[in-house]
Amino acid sequence: MRIKKGDTVLIISGKDREKSGKILQVFPKENRIMVEGINLRKKHRKPKRSGEKGQIVTLPGLISASNAKLICSKCGKATRVGYKIAEGKKYRICKKCGGEI
Ligand SMILES: [Zn+2]
Repeated sequence: MRIKKGDTVLIISGKDREKSGKILQVFPKENRIMVEGINLRKKHRKPKRSGEKGQIVTLPGLISASNAKLICSKCGKATRVGYKIAEGKKYRICKKCGGEI
């Protein structure tokens, strides 16, 4: 996957289109990601002990990684990711400004 945890992405399709957020988790096998504030779902949390109240918590649901575009930390634009190899290391670069991400 070209994007990883901690990256900021722009959502390009679905109900959260045009929104952006930070990646909280990636699931490379499923090609899915969890993004802060995106695809929020309500979950009922059962009380753990008697006398406690159940809670409703809001959690981001998974979205397909192909619905998200990386926002470059250098130029601030949604971009495609390229790779550069220098001195045996692999770097991700922004296809818009050429900066390292
Ligand atoms: Zn850039």
